[in-house]
Amino acid sequence: LYNMVQDLKGNIRVYCRIRPIFNDGSVVDFIGQDGSLVISDPSKPQREGRKTFKFNKVFGPTSTQGEVFADIQPLIRSVMDGYNVCIFAYGQTGSGKTHTMSGPLNGSTKDLGINYLALSDLFQLSSMRKDITDYDIRVQMVEIYNEQEEFGFLTMYKLEIRSCTADGGLSLPDATMHSVKSTADVVKLMKLGDENRVVSSTALNNRSSRSHSVLTVHVSGKDISGSTLRSCLHLVDLAGSERVDKSEVTGERLKEAQYINKSLSCLGDVITTLAQKNSHIPYRNSKLTLLLQDSLGGHAKTLMFAHVNPEVDSFGETVSTLKFAQRVSTV
Ligand code: ADP
Ligand code: MG
Repeated sequence: LYNMVQDLKGNIRVYCRIRPIFNDGSVVDFIGQDGSLVISDPSKPQREGRKTFKFNKVFGPTSTQGEVFADIQPLIRSVMDGYNVCIFAYGQTGSGKTHTMSGPLNGSTKDLGINYLALSDLFQLSSMRKDITDYDIRVQMVEIYNEQEEFGFLTMYKLEIRSCTADGGLSLPDATMHSVKSTADVVKLMKLGDENRVVSSTALNNRSSRSHSVLTVHVSGKDISGSTLRSCLHLVDLAGSERVDKSEVTGERLKEAQYINKSLSCLGDVITTLAQKNSHIPYRNSKLTLLLQDSLGGHAKTLMFAHVNPEVDSFGETVSTLKFAQRVSTV
C-alpha cells in the first residue's frame, strides 16, 4: 500500500467511466483490462470509424459505485497521512458525473457516490486511529459559476476568493466550514447543499450543469508524539463540457458557455503543464485552478474521471471528452 501511495504522488491518473445505455445503441466496441477503449463512429463503416484511447483504467457500464470506490480507496486514505488529493468528474451533461461523485440524491442510501463513501471511510479511519492521532475533519462546499462569482451553496453567500494565505492555500472567508462528526452529518449537509442548489437552479435555469461544484474535506491531525499534519481532499463535479453552438445561443447562455470553456481548458492546461514537469503552472488563469492550486501538482495526487455517455447521438461529445482526457493523461 505504501508503495502504491508513493507511486501516485505527483502523478495524474485518468480513469474513464462509461454510463449505461438508456435509449440508443452504443459506440463502445471494446473495453480492455489494461485501460484501453475502442469506440466507433456510427456514421462510418466499422473498419474506418474506429478510434482507440488509453487510460489508467476504464470502468464499463455495469461497474458499480462500490467497485469504483474500492479502486480509489488508497488514494482517499492517503489524505489522512497528510497528502493533498484532488478528484474531478469531467464530461458532458448527462454522462454520469454527479452519479459518480454524489450518487442519486433522492434520499436513498443505495448507490451513494464517492463524496459519501470517501467521507465515511475517513471517519472510520479517524476512529480506528483515535488512540494514536487526534483528527479534525471539516467540510466545505463551494460552487463556481461564471468565473467571477462563487457561492458557498450551503449558505448562498457570495464568496470572494481572497489572496493566498501564508501557506499558499486560498482562503474563502464566507464559505461556512462545517465540522462533521459522522456520515449522517455529511448526508445532512449534502442535502442542505443540494436543496440550496435546487433553489438556484430553478432561479437560474438549471445552473447545476453549468457550474463547478467543489466539496473540500479539510483534515488536520495531531499524533501522540506531537507531530501535526494538515491536508485536503477536493471532490469536484465539473460543469458540463459540451460545446454549445454559437449560432444558437446568445446573452447569458453564451457567456456561461464561454466561462465554462475557459475554465475547463485552463484546467487542461494546468494538468498538462504539470505532467510535463514545467516550472510555470498557469494556476492564475481561472478561479477553478486557483481554488484547487494546493491540491494540483507538487506532492498532491490528481485523479480525473472522464465520463462518457456511450449512446450514438453523443458520439461527437464522446470523442472530444476522450481527446481531452487523453491530453491530460500521462499513460
Ligand atoms: P451529469 O452529472 O454528468 O450531468 P448524471 O450523473 O446526472 O450526469 O447522470 C445522468 C443520468 O444517468 C442520471 O439519471 C443518473 O442517475 C444516470 N446514471 C449516470 N451514470 C450511471 C451509472 N453508472 N449507473 C446508473 N445510472 C447512471
Ligand atoms: Mg450533474
